[in-house]
Amino acid sequence: MNDQTSKKVITRFAPSPTGHLHIGGARTAIFCWLMARHFGGKFLLRIEDTDIERSRQEYTESILSSMRWLKLDWDDEPVFQRGRFYIYDKNIERLLESGHAYWCACSPEEVETMRERARAAGEKPRYDGRCRNLHLGPGPGRVVRLAAPMAGRIEFTDMAKGRLSFDASELDDMVLRRADGAPTYNFSVVVDDIAMNVSHVLRGDDHVNNTPRQILIYRALGADLPVFGHVPMILGPDRQKLSKRHGAKAVIEYEKDGLLPEALVNYLVRLGWSQGDKEIFSREELVAAFNGKNLSGSPAAFDPEKLLWVNARHLREAKPEDILPLLLPFLEEAGAPMRDRTLLLGAISLFQPRARTLKDLAEQMRTLLIAADELHYDGEILALLGTEGCGHLVCLGGKIDELPDFCPETLHQCLRAYVEERGVKFKAVGQAMRIALLGSVNGPDLAGAMAILGKDEVRNRLDRTLAQFSAATNHI
Ligand code: GLU
Repeated sequence: MNDQTSKKVITRFAPSPTGHLHIGGARTAIFCWLMARHFGGKFLLRIEDTDIERSRQEYTESILSSMRWLKLDWDDEPVFQRGRFYIYDKNIERLLESGHAYWCACSPEEVETMRERARAAGEKPRYDGRCRNLHLGPGPGRVVRLAAPMAGRIEFTDMAKGRLSFDASELDDMVLRRADGAPTYNFSVVVDDIAMNVSHVLRGDDHVNNTPRQILIYRALGADLPVFGHVPMILGPDRQKLSKRHGAKAVIEYEKDGLLPEALVNYLVRLGWSQGDKEIFSREELVAAFNGKNLSGSPAAFDPEKLLWVNARHLREAKPEDILPLLLPFLEEAGAPMRDRTLLLGAISLFQPRARTLKDLAEQMRTLLIAADELHYDGEILALLGTEGCGHLVCLGGKIDELPDFCPETLHQCLRAYVEERGVKFKAVGQAMRIALLGSVNGPDLAGAMAILGKDEVRNRLDRTLAQFSAATNHI
C-alpha cells in the first residue's frame, strides 16, 4: 500500500435518485467497488435524495436493482440523506459557533444583482459577503453561508488528473443551508463523507469544481481530507456529450438487451482505466489489478459495437451453467419451450461461440429446442435446398439410420465420409442439413447440433423438410 491507501480504504457511491442508473454512474460505482475490493476495504452506498421534487423511490429501487445485477455488492445499510437533516443542522450549529459560517439575509434577487454587477465589471460573479460581519441570527428566508478564506490556494492531488490548484479568492461564501432548511449538495456530501469515514472520493469530473469548495468545508469542520479522484466523462463517438442518440442506455436496458453484467463491467472499466492493452478482464482479474492508479485523465468515447464485441467474448468464455439462469427469461421471450437441463446446457455450449447477446443466443437456440412441426421452411429457403440438397438429405438419412451411436464424433465422421464418397463439397451438404434441421443456412457445428437433437428428431426433421419440399414443388 502507498501513503494514499495506508488507512482503511472506504469508498462510496452516492447517486441521486432522479433517474435510472446510467453508464456514467455505473462506471463510477464500479471504480469505487473495485477500489474497495482490491484493498479489502468497504464500499458504501449513499442515496442523495435531498432534492424532494426530483427524487423518486422507484429510481432508488431501480438503481439498487442495477447495482445488484452488476454484482456491485455494498457494505452496511445504504444511507439516505433525507433522514439526516438533523445531522446537517448540528454541523451548521458547530460552524456558526466556531465562526466558520454566518446567517445571510440577502434575497436571491439581491445576490443576482451582485453577480450581474461583478460580471459587468469583468469580474467573476460572486456573492460579496455583505452579511458576513452583521452577526445575524436565523429568520425567514435566511440562509447559512461559509465564511470562506479570501486568499490563498486550495490544492490537492487527484487520482485521475494529478495535482490541481485553485485560487481561494475565486470562490465566494457558498450557501451551506438553504432558506427552506435543506443542506446544499456540497455541504451534505462533506458532512456525510466525514461521518462515513470515506477515504477515497471517486466521482465524475463534472464535480471537480465542487471539490475546492468541499475542501474548505472539510477545513472548517476540522476534518482530514480524503483522496479525490475525478474520472472524465464518457463522450459519444463524435466527442459530444453522451446521449441516447449515441446508443447509450440505462443499465437496466442493457440487462433487457441480454448483456452479461461481467461484460458491461469490463467494458466500462476500460473506458477510463487501462492495464497495458489488455481488453478482456474477468471480475477477479479486475479486482486484482485495479488499485486506483492508471485512471485516465481524458474523456473516453462510448462505442456500442465494441461493447457488443466485449459481450460476445465474455459469452464465448462463460460456463454454460453460469449462462443458463441468465438465459431463462430470454428463452421464454423467444418462445423456446423448456427442455431438460442437460439438453439446454448442450445447446448453450453449441451456440455460445456464435452469439453476441443472451437475446441473440436464445433466438438461435430456439430453432433447436422447438418441436419439429414448428419449424417453418419458407419458399425461399426450400429453393436454396433444391433437388440436389434433397438428394443429400435422403442419402444421409439412410446412413444416419445405421449409425451405432449418435455422438458428435461419430456424426462428424459420417458426414465427412459421405462428402468424400460422393466427391461433393462439404458446404453444399452442410447447407442442406442446416436448412432441414434448423430452418436456416447458417448455424452451429452440424454434428454437435445433430447429437443434441437425437436420432429420432433428426429423422423427423429430415422427413418433414423432404415432405415440404415435394409439396412446394408439386404445387409449382
Ligand atoms: N449525488 C451526486 C451525483 O449523483 C454525487 C456526487 C459525489 O459523488 O459527490 O452526481
